[in-house]
Amino acid sequence: MNSTLIKNITIIGAANGEVIENTSIAIENGKIKGLGNDLSKNSSNYSQIIDGEDGFLMPGFVDAHVHLLANGFQNEDYMNDPLSYYFYKGLNAAKLTLEAGVTTVRDCGLVDYGFKLAASKKLFTSPKLQISVMPLSITGGHFDITLKSGHDMIVKYPGFPHPICNGVEGVIAKTREVARAGADFIKVMATGGTTSANDKTDDIQFNIKELKAIVDEANRLDRKVATHCHGYGGLELSIKANVHSIEHGTSIDKKNAKLMVEKNIFLVPTFSVMKDQEIAAKNKTLAENKIEGTLKLVKMHKENMEIAYNQGVIMAMGTDSGVQEHGNNLSELSYFVKMGMSPLEAIVTGTLNSAKCLFLENKIGSIELGKSADLVFTKKNPLDDISILKNKNNILMIFQDGGIVKNKYID
Ligand SMILES: [Zn+2]
Repeated sequence: MNSTLIKNITIIGAANGEVIENTSIAIENGKIKGLGNDLSKNSSNYSQIIDGEDGFLMPGFVDAHVHLLANGFQNEDYMNDPLSYYFYKGLNAAKLTLEAGVTTVRDCGLVDYGFKLAASKKLFTSPKLQISVMPLSITGGHFDITLKSGHDMIVKYPGFPHPICNGVEGVIAKTREVARAGADFIKVMATGGTTSANDKTDDIQFNIKELKAIVDEANRLDRKVATHCHGYGGLELSIKANVHSIEHGTSIDKKNAKLMVEKNIFLVPTFSVMKDQEIAAKNKTLAENKIEGTLKLVKMHKENMEIAYNQGVIMAMGTDSGVQEHGNNLSELSYFVKMGMSPLEAIVTGTLNSAKCLFLENKIGSIELGKSADLVFTKKNPLDDISILKNKNNILMIFQDGGIVKNKYID
């Protein structure tokens, strides 16, 4: 029988985010089979015993906003790179993400069904995946990468949906098409973005009729909707349309934060990408005409996340990795703590709450009997200093479904 005992550990993130000091955990057939110190009395029951030496064990983290197939969204890349190279880079991104401590991701655009299928069959090292395939965008919107030259830079291959849709009928058809292509949820560009070819972050994109049609159709197909929102108008319409999660949420105010609490809408703040854009603006590596706006946007984002947090909006951890480098996902936890969370709260946000955002809280997100053995082990205490988690070298072991997928600890 294939079973593992990990003894002498402190669990951070047991049921309801509890901390259990000085305990043991048993893993069998990929699941958490037992918890408690009594387990170590019958050591002959296990095929492998790991002494945690007073280290710390957390649930595998969930990043609710990544783009594993993106590497900076450089439009020319899609023109230069052979399609095979584009996918191989994705394998590397998946590995970096997993090794950072993220055992599950929600990909907010570009990962397709084949990539997810291969990952689920463990053909390569990857977090478990929920995918949106292709975000929906209006003509001229955040995911319309048609340049003024007339060249459409969006990646194209058979069966992969194109992002553009307009009008109630058009968005319903596109929602169905993306669902057919294997989307677990529907990602929608509700406002402009900092990296867009054709728009400004304040722009309202889909109108309320279109947004409601997308949400209705997605719900009918048993899927939820996540909207990319910077500007106020698009944020307000998204909340009105009852989306499941708001990504970025830059313009959120007290009124809309209260509505989100009422409607149980998740906020995925993506501090990491905002920081990346701030650095790019300061280093002037952004387009000249985007620099001032981006700096304003980042400042507003920081202030408004605090408002949302103080109003009690439920948050999930998302980084938007893919815009910036892959594999630094747990930096996001430090931004949560700067916003006002305790380190424990940040860890629970990055695990259990994020699992809830993906409707996976019965399978992952906490260290509880029967859940998948997706685990992250450190020797340093993240409750003393959350920033230790952003250094990959501090993450000594990672288990995914009970299997060791990263090991810098045992021989
Ligand atoms: Zn994104």
